[in-house]
Amino acid sequence: MTFWERAPAGALFHVTAIVRAAVPRYLGRMLSYQHIYHAGNLADVHKHALLAQALAYMTRKDKPLSYIETHAGRGLYRLDADEALKTGEAAQGIARLEAGLAADHPYRQRLAEVRARYGEAAYPGSPLLAALSLREGDTLHLAELHPQEFRALEAVLRPWGAHIHHSDGLALAQAICPPTPRRGLMLIDPSYEVKDDYATIPKVISAIARKWNVGVICLWYPILAAAPHEPMLAVLVRAFPGALHHEVGFAPVRGGHGLVGSGMFIINPPYGLAAEAEAVSALFARVA
Ligand code: SAM
Repeated sequence: MTFWERAPAGALFHVTAIVRAAVPRYLGRMLSYQHIYHAGNLADVHKHALLAQALAYMTRKDKPLSYIETHAGRGLYRLDADEALKTGEAAQGIARLEAGLAADHPYRQRLAEVRARYGEAAYPGSPLLAALSLREGDTLHLAELHPQEFRALEAVLRPWGAHIHHSDGLALAQAICPPTPRRGLMLIDPSYEVKDDYATIPKVISAIARKWNVGVICLWYPILAAAPHEPMLAVLVRAFPGALHHEVGFAPVRGGHGLVGSGMFIINPPYGLAAEAEAVSALFARVA
């Protein structure tokens, strides 16, 4: 059973004093989500295709940039791991859609690089996609709160020179914005385990955008049958009328699975990303 199918667990989650101070919202809660069950699924394809293309556009300009990720995950997944095989989500996701991407699509290129480095069953999380896309002089800040995921992230991304934070990503993002370099992209990809995330996120994004008005801020959200994202989205659309807002829908991967689509809300989208989003819609039309 995976996160989208079960109620959040309520057991105590052991965190350090520093993290406790930074994350009162998480005290007493178990972070049970593990992305390995979902790596390479249809939502990842949507999010990672847009992310890889956005970074490709941004790195064309010869100016350094910052990449900030608030909910990083472990950075590298094995699609032959028991957890991934148990859900079979990658088989319905990247395995089905990859051939529909142009051969020179940056996401496809990053996938090939990851397989060449880490083996055929390897799949990159967004931090590794970013690390492969960035150049010397660019800066990565990655936050991950789950102790096990954090340790795995450190092992994979430390060699890339990333700053890796065992802390609440939304608190970190507010603390380091505007970042240096000031040009840059932030990915906010929560697991939505904490019920008030939907209410908190628009407030945090508004605070970040006030301090960092040139930042490309990308929020991923799940589309579930009961549509809990809609009030959050309405607030964001009102606050950021110029943002790129892109959704894809798909059939649930199995009976009882709540995820029926994937959304990205992108403030200050790089030029060209709207056209890329249309290409991604065409790709997903195959699995609708
Ligand atoms: N962005 C990753 C990717 O695409 O490869 C997947 C991230 S996964 C959807 C969400 C991650 O956020 C989980 O690893 C979870 O442990 C972590 N997480 C949950 N709450 C967090 C918080 N408040 N701060 C930082 N990380 C958090």
